[in-house]
Amino acid sequence: MSVVSGCCASQASKFPREFLLSALGEPRSGLTALVPRTEEMQARDSRQHDRWHQALPMEEFLRAAFNGRFRFGMEPDQEATIRIRTGTMFCWSCGAETRIVVGLGITAADKELMVTIPSLGEYPQAGELIRRYVSTHRDIGAIKRRFSSTQRRKYLSNGCAHCGSLIGQMYELDADWDDEPLDTFRVRIADGWKQVIDSCGWQDTWHVYS
Ligand SMILES: [Zn+2]
Repeated sequence: MSVVSGCCASQASKFPREFLLSALGEPRSGLTALVPRTEEMQARDSRQHDRWHQALPMEEFLRAAFNGRFRFGMEPDQEATIRIRTGTMFCWSCGAETRIVVGLGITAADKELMVTIPSLGEYPQAGELIRRYVSTHRDIGAIKRRFSSTQRRKYLSNGCAHCGSLIGQMYELDADWDDEPLDTFRVRIADGWKQVIDSCGWQDTWHVYS
């Protein structure tokens, strides 16, 4: 196994300008280029391809690097898949069974992330899209900003479909998740979703684009 240190010019913030690009294999049979997922990746991780962001033939990697297709961060038109996950519970106020949005499953590149409605409230563009979408479903309580006397603030919240009462952040945990998502759709990450996935622990990285 041989290891080379890749050096790439970047104005990017968190990821290092110089990082370890690992190459695995024998020169005669062809080397595999391993693009790191985080700056903490080390040469000893080379044996486990699935721990790396990308693994591709060295020849293909070099062609991409020289053609400007090895870049940091996301492409402007990169998309994510959003799954609206719902669940049922009994309203603390009127006692009726109601359906709420327990969270949004977000698939971006090869990562699965999850964000709740109160957290989504920090990101108006994404929050508004989901609020409008859910408003077409009568059996789900409206997604809107409600005042919580516990938290002494207004936040984007679930509510009871029958009486409209706030289903507080902690009560959401009581819901029985529905097996299937309410709906699945694609969004452009640049349309207000980048900050959402960043808040879920997303880390920009180097990527060979096709
Ligand atoms: Zn109710």
